[in-house]
Amino acid sequence: MDFSISDDDRILRGSVRDFIEGEANQVWREIEETDELPDGLIAGARDLGLLGLSIPAEYGGLDLTVTQKALVHEMLGRGPWGLASYISVHTGIGCVGIVRFGSDEQKRRYLPKMATGEWLGSFALTEPGSGSDARNMKTRAERDGDAYVLNGHKTFITNAPKAHHFFTFARTGDSVSAFLVDADTPGVAIGQVFDTLGHRGSYISEIVFENARIPAHALVGEEGRGFDYAKRCLSEGRTTLAARCVGSAQKAMELALEYGSQRETFGKPIADHQSIAFRLAQMSARTEAARLAVYRSAWLLDRGEAAVRESSTAKLLAAEGGWQTVDDAMQIFGGNGYVRCEYMIDRIWRDIRVARVYDGSSEVQQIVIAGRLRKGDVETAM
Ligand SMILES: Cc1cc2nc3c(=O)[nH]c(=O)nc-3n(C[C@H](O)[C@H](O)[C@H](O)COP(=O)(O)OP(=O)(O)OC[C@H]3O[C@@H](n4cnc5c(N)ncnc54)[C@H](O)[C@@H]3O)c2cc1C
Repeated sequence: MDFSISDDDRILRGSVRDFIEGEANQVWREIEETDELPDGLIAGARDLGLLGLSIPAEYGGLDLTVTQKALVHEMLGRGPWGLASYISVHTGIGCVGIVRFGSDEQKRRYLPKMATGEWLGSFALTEPGSGSDARNMKTRAERDGDAYVLNGHKTFITNAPKAHHFFTFARTGDSVSAFLVDADTPGVAIGQVFDTLGHRGSYISEIVFENARIPAHALVGEEGRGFDYAKRCLSEGRTTLAARCVGSAQKAMELALEYGSQRETFGKPIADHQSIAFRLAQMSARTEAARLAVYRSAWLLDRGEAAVRESSTAKLLAAEGGWQTVDDAMQIFGGNGYVRCEYMIDRIWRDIRVARVYDGSSEVQQIVIAGRLRKGDVETAM
């Protein structure tokens, strides 16, 4: 068993870490206050190639493996989630479907401009009446000659207000199909833009389709296979989101360790009180366990396996364990932790909370894992 990574991957991880600590974490208060990502930060991400993580080199991207993407996302998790989410939706669920299932024409049209960040991507699955139960969507695409006509309503779509296009799911007959819908299509409008608890700098909104006519060649892959494509995008997305949670938990643990080593009560640093020391040890152990699950899932995906149970396991452990760890860090900061925009721990606490809800909530991950167990998938072979 070999847990080492190559020199190139170490350099990749180091450059993303330097970018996050040296640039993004320098402007985190500004992002919290303005709810905008500074242009310079997006330019920095673009210069590092972070907007083309999933895109094949022939279209101008970095074409990283899932394991390499997990390394990148773990480092993104050390910084503001508005930035991490901008990058991860654009390069992950908003892009993987085009790379894997798109036609050559779709790849030529979308991928080069996505790789440079000129065109921002998004992924439109959730609707007001169907989140966890996504199959219950109501948005419809009716075939009309050489076009489809879309009607329906999507919600909570990250990047939508700034996106060039939406990787959209709609009902075609009894099944679901995937479409690339350009944002400037007549009949497509942005609805409510949400003001969220954390994730500052993210652009999250509704999308409304009213008799939006899109060309038949906007269909991705085969009609009726949309849900299979969504699941494939999501199992990779769950692994990289889990990696982001690990990065956030690690950062929170480091901040708490530093604070606990300096802050004194009863004549010694609070980190020397055994209950705080044990809490730090638990935070570290939980983060290591989640990290192992993340890289195991990434490794399986890179071998071409579906890794359904493993990616859900990684997401469940990383989101729940990450939340517990960040909340423990908040406790170690005492009253100072509860002050807005002073010690960063408040920002991490607000950000990581949503990992238990989106990309499949923790309850949904347990439904998936239990379903796999019932099918005999009870243990991953070594
Ligand atoms: C910040 C943010 C960004 C998002 N970005 C996107 C995006 O880019 N694209 C996109 O398509 N969606 C996006 N979403 C939507 C997100 O994926 C959904 O919020 C999520 O799937 C949960 O759906 P819901 O909110 O409708 O909750 P519901 O499905 O209504 O669930 C509510 C609660 O009930 C629980 N629950 C539901 N069913 C069961 C069950 N059978 N057993 C036990 N518990 C259950 C859930 O776990 C949850 O805790 C985003 C959401 C947020 C908050």
